[in-house]
Amino acid sequence: MRVICAENMGFCFGVKRALDMVLNERNAYTLGQLIHNPQVVELLEKRGIKEIKSIDEIENGTLIITAHGTSKSNIIKAKEKGLKIIDTTCPLVKRVHELAGEFDKKGYKIILFGDKEHQEVKGTASNAKDVTIVNSAEEARKLKSNKAGLLSQTTQSLEKFNEIGDILKKNIPDLKVFNTICDATRKRQDSALKLSKKVDLMIVIGGYNSANTRRLKEICSKIVETKHIESDEELNKEWFKNKKTIGLTAGASTPGWVIKRVKDRIEKY
Ligand code: SF4
Repeated sequence: MRVICAENMGFCFGVKRALDMVLNERNAYTLGQLIHNPQVVELLEKRGIKEIKSIDEIENGTLIITAHGTSKSNIIKAKEKGLKIIDTTCPLVKRVHELAGEFDKKGYKIILFGDKEHQEVKGTASNAKDVTIVNSAEEARKLKSNKAGLLSQTTQSLEKFNEIGDILKKNIPDLKVFNTICDATRKRQDSALKLSKKVDLMIVIGGYNSANTRRLKEICSKIVETKHIESDEELNKEWFKNKKTIGLTAGASTPGWVIKRVKDRIEKY
């Protein structure tokens, strides 16, 4: 059995940067998971970095804003409480915030393609007054406006973004389209797609709550049988029966050592 790794997979620059910024911190709190990966969350907990769901849970200490960013109201609240803030928001996410703010000021409605409940989407949405979040072609068909700016959550699928853009163009005369899907995400998606055409089974490694990992699973599943796992312990020998070539890919929040363990275990089968 041959195991082939996707050309681009695993930690992206924004996630690596966020981890580097906090690794020496102790007794700090992350607003939501710093990285959507259970192994990294466990490692941080051991170092005294705990996850909180809301700023209301703490009265003092250090607050870490994750690479996905957060809403303006959370930053204001943290400042009012006098918390020390470490902002690891990825610069590429910050760029989407800026675009939303800029076009809001110019009087454009902001249409944001993304998961309504995702921190990144909530953060971007907080930078504009008139925002509609869409997640499907059906939702896009219902939208009407004279002028709007279309932005995307950085980890969404390019194919779906283009589809939504094409639908909106028909109903919105002045539509500005900004493809804000980050390059790391796009490269991981392209590599996964390419690899899934060459193998008998794809294994996608990453947190079940990681948006970009789930997207990789979606993309590969359309081409070939695909399994999404968080760690090597979930591998099942039965999956590999009669399979000659196995493809491996991993989300932008999956550490290299987690990928290596999966690869090593499959190669031992
Ligand atoms: S996936 Fe892209 S936008 Fe998100 S943290 Fe990584 S580099 Fe930044």
